[in-house]
Amino acid sequence: MSETGPSPDGGAGRIDRAEIDAAKGRLDRIVSDVCGACELNCCLEGTMAGTDDMHRIAKACRRSPEFKSRVISELRARALELRRDLEGMETTSRLLKARFAQDRAEDLGRLDDSLARWRAFCDFLDNDFEASSNDLVHCLMFSAIRAMALRAMTAFPGGANVLPALAGPGTSFQVGRRGVKPDRCIFHRETCMVAEAKPHKCADFYCSTEPGLIDRVTDQMTIDEFVLAHFESQTRPEILRLLDIELSMGPEHVASKVIVGGGGDFADGVAAQLRSAFAGVTEKCIEGGHLDVQVDIPPPTSDSCARPLVVHCATADAVGVYELSVMLVRARGETLHPVVVVVADEWRPCAGTEHPLWRERAISQPLSALALIAIVEE
Ligand code: SF4
Ligand code: SF4
Repeated sequence: MSETGPSPDGGAGRIDRAEIDAAKGRLDRIVSDVCGACELNCCLEGTMAGTDDMHRIAKACRRSPEFKSRVISELRARALELRRDLEGMETTSRLLKARFAQDRAEDLGRLDDSLARWRAFCDFLDNDFEASSNDLVHCLMFSAIRAMALRAMTAFPGGANVLPALAGPGTSFQVGRRGVKPDRCIFHRETCMVAEAKPHKCADFYCSTEPGLIDRVTDQMTIDEFVLAHFESQTRPEILRLLDIELSMGPEHVASKVIVGGGGDFADGVAAQLRSAFAGVTEKCIEGGHLDVQVDIPPPTSDSCARPLVVHCATADAVGVYELSVMLVRARGETLHPVVVVVADEWRPCAGTEHPLWRERAISQPLSALALIAIVEE
């Protein structure tokens, strides 16, 4: 831990930027090694995202103009690929029209309609896409548009075979065991274009069977390092700006957080800011105490979700963060969206303790449920 804080409690102190960077570097190297060599690249199997995830990406766009302009230009480049696919569809469609114009008018009409939707989607990416929440949610429609077009195409005898042949090898129409394969994720070009704000399922997914990313990570990293790798370092004003952005986008955009290094009345300031958008905020102070999630944070209910919970404690650790994340993932599974903000004065290393779910490699890693922020000196 950094020298900047006192260490009265098992080496507790502030987290510094170098620790976060070192842990991130270690995790990135493992992921790029294992996922880079993987032939079952998750991103090639389609988009694993929902509306919540699009809110995350939209929020990241509001926070960073550079990220936003990259997402916009990458999606426009992706639109070029989709147009190339569309040309393959249109070539095939012309052939089908020449052959079936007399007796399949209804099927041809359905095919025309689905191609028009595809074209409109490409036009939207080229002309109107501003990376707002609504725009990003609209992007999720593409897999349905593509599926509809493929269904319309395969309604014709031989349609499923002729499309990949006519569209050509540079398109997404590759034949798999069960017909034309799904296209890769809409947010994938050479790599993930929203890496800083990945959808929950992508960010948390660590395969447990071959090639076994979760084994490599849990073998080569401690839970402390793993959790630290998910922190971002921020100044106090930047954290308050993030809260402002979230609140201006609407209460459903406010993410649960663990903020380390926020002594004094920082937790009160966060609670006051939350009160501007929520009918009530529950505040809890664990005076001089260590965060024990099982004791300090009640499992969310639909009633408690209406009131954010702000907890101020002296210390928090990786096991507590992990437990809180697991709790929030479970809540998400029950379609509950609680807002829990933990403000800890200091970070306490786990010193050999591990969470059982981490040790037993029993779940994918849950940390995207929380924004983890370490306050660094302004
Ligand atoms: S998580 Fe596993 S399956 Fe997915 S790309 Fe990485 S190594 Fe491959
Ligand atoms: S959002 Fe990114 S990480 Fe997730 S499937 Fe798409 S490209 Fe891959």
